[in-house]
This record gives sequence, structure tokens and C-alpha cells, in this order.
Amino acid sequence: MNSEDLFNEAKKYLPGGVDSPIRAFKPYPFFVSKGIGSKIFDVDGNSYIDYCLGYGPAILGHSHEAIVKAVGEQIAIGTIYGTPTEKEIELAKMVVERVPCVEMLRFVNSGTEATMSAIRLARGFTNKNKIVKFEGGYHGCHDYVLIKPGSGGAIKPDSLGIPEDTSKNTLSLPFNDEEALIQLVDKHKDEIATIIVEPVMGNIGCLQPKNGFLKLLRDITKENNILLIFDEVITGFRLSYGSAQEYFNVIPDLVTFGKILGGGFPIGAFGGRKEIMGMISPSGGVYQAGTFNGNPVSITGGITTLNELNKSFYVSLNKKGEYLRSQIHDSIEDLSLNLNLSGLASMFQIYFRNGDILNYDDVKKSDIKKFNKYFKTLLKNGIFIPPSQFECCFISNAHNHDDLEKTANIIHDVLKEL
Ligand SMILES: *Cc1c(COP(=O)(O)O)cnc(C)c1O
Repeated sequence: MNSEDLFNEAKKYLPGGVDSPIRAFKPYPFFVSKGIGSKIFDVDGNSYIDYCLGYGPAILGHSHEAIVKAVGEQIAIGTIYGTPTEKEIELAKMVVERVPCVEMLRFVNSGTEATMSAIRLARGFTNKNKIVKFEGGYHGCHDYVLIKPGSGGAIKPDSLGIPEDTSKNTLSLPFNDEEALIQLVDKHKDEIATIIVEPVMGNIGCLQPKNGFLKLLRDITKENNILLIFDEVITGFRLSYGSAQEYFNVIPDLVTFGKILGGGFPIGAFGGRKEIMGMISPSGGVYQAGTFNGNPVSITGGITTLNELNKSFYVSLNKKGEYLRSQIHDSIEDLSLNLNLSGLASMFQIYFRNGDILNYDDVKKSDIKKFNKYFKTLLKNGIFIPPSQFECCFISNAHNHDDLEKTANIIHDVLKEL
């Protein structure tokens, strides 16, 4: 069956034909037969240079040799034991060594679980209830973070099935807005347990913090007994050896990981200082548990991946990012287009609008129709980027100069055509 037939078949058994909504792009998603290095292949006989990379995890490219080998060896000796393995200590030590804020961590199964547990921990530690997030920030799909601004500054659940009462404990702020942040904290400081933020907002494209914004967040939370959580599910092990907190030199109280940390296998983690993490069960009273926590397959994927991600890895990967962005930048200049190219390290996105982009409201003014056309035309030409203006493109170490040059040329031609 081809992708179109498979999608029609899938729709009979899976809601919307997919297992996560972003995958259901129109008219139908391509069904993958395999992924190797920088490319993925579909059942219709096409291949694509992949800048989606599973929405970030595949930083070494697909089916990396070292991962195939190490994970294969692990699978051969068992995949689940329900009792600890030495490998959990090994990966924990690697994260502690790299990431400034982490002295201890708990492995879970997804980014959603990581933020859910970190928020519970922050509430337990501060003995306060409210949380603050930023408009357009994505922290997984659990109830407290799935909210949208309602009328008159109120917060509404962003899904059916979430009680209005649940959302009442979440407050929302525009990103990069110092004044709004100061006012909100001033008003609610005795109730706010935590502020959770993506240091680079990777779920509304690739939106970067203004100079000094993360530092202000750090200072204001410290002064008011509020825990600062960096949601580094995307930026963790993506931006640099020690993640975004090292890149921006702002150290949060807690951090959440996912995506890259599992080397392509399901994982999540949250960590921080001993004094805070010691409150997690069984050593403390904040409950957290999971059948697949610390799963040896995912942990092996993580150890093998982090072993590859040494400091020189990032120099080489980020050079690829700089090269591709400079080529796209030149195309935008040459063609005198009103587009905004954003990106850093190995992340990038083109916003289909001009002018400064500081927050979610600015991103929403992008020309979505144009973006969709850009996405579809790239796909036709063998380039796969995430199918939404609100996602971010990623580069892997498997992308070689030919891949990047070809991509730059195709993007040039597609932008010209638009
Ligand atoms: C993907 C993502 C999550 C959720 O992770 P899942 O593994 O999909 O549950 C949380 N936060 C951020 C910043 C993410 O990008």
C-alpha cells in the first residue's frame, strides 16, 4: 500500500490516522519505511533530507551505528527488569557532570512526565500552588500546562476534558516582557511555586530570549522563593555540551529533559539540587513512579548518544547550522523577501512575516498559508521540515555538506517561487 492508502486504513483504527496530532498534515502524511543518517525514506519510493529528526531527538541522524550496536546488545540480555541497573548510575553521572543545575535526577518516560513531576516537586518544595508559564510555551500534554488565555486575562483549558478549576492554578505571561513578569510576580509571589520556561521557545518556531530576559527570570524567582524550571526537553544536549543553561549562563533550580536524552528511545528526566530532588519518593514525600522509569533500552540509547556528544561535536554541528542559516539569509536578502529567519546552534525556522518577533502574538501574525506552501514545496523537492510554522527545524551530525548545500539551493528556489 502507498501512503495515501495506508492513511485511509490508519484512520479506521487510530483517531485521525496518527498517534500524535502534529503528524496528520494534509492531504496525508508520508508513511516511513526507514531512516538512515540524514535521510528518511517513505513507502512510496521517495527519500527526504530530514530536518524534523523526530521533532529533535535524532541529533546523530537515523540508525547511528554505535546506537544500533549498543542497544542491540542490551536487548539481547533483557529489556525490563523492575530492579535497578548500573547503567542508570552511569547516565545519571553523565548528566550531572554536564549540566550545571543537576546534582540528582529521576528518569521517567517522556517530556510530559518530566514537566508534570518537576511541577509537583516545585509545589511540594515551596508549599505553594500556582505555576506560571509563557504563552506559546509547550510543556507536554498534562492538565496544568495545557491552557490558553481566555477573556479578561483569565486562563482557560486548551482541551476538552480539563476542569476549569485545574487551570485556575496556572498563570500565563507573554515571553520577553519584563514589565508583565515583574507585575505578575509582585501580585502573586506568595502563591507562585514555579515559573516554567523553554529557554529557547522551540514550540512556536525558534524564538530566542531577549538579552537579559532569562537573567531577570533567575533573579526575580530567587528573590521571591519561586523555583525556576528550565524545560530543556528540546534544548537539552542540543544547544551545547551543558545545554541551554550553559549556553546562556543562567542556572535554574530544576531542569526537564526528554527527546535527545534517550538517543531515539522514549525517555524523560528531571533534575536539580540535592536539597530539592531529595523530596522525591522514596527519599521524600513528593510521589513519582513508573514501570518503565530508567528502562535499560532507553538508558543505553542515552549513554551511547551522550558519549558521542563531546565538546568538539558541538563545534562541528553548530558550524553546520551557521552555514545553512547564512545561505538562507543570503537568499532572503537576494530576493528582497519580508521574512524573518531565526535560529542558533543547530536549530532554525523561517517566520513568514517581517519585523521583530519577541513573543507568541508576534509569531501568530505569520502568513500560515505561505508557510504551508513552503512546507509542501520543500517536501516535493525531497526536504522534510516539521509541517508547521510553530515548530523548529533541527540539523543532525549526519547532515553533510552536500545535504546542506542542496537544501540551501532548494530553499532558495522555493522562496523565489513563492
Ligand atoms: C516535546 C516537548 C515536551 C513533551 O515531551 P514528550 O516526550 O512529547 O511528552 C515538553 N516540553 C518541550 C519543550 C517539548 O518540546
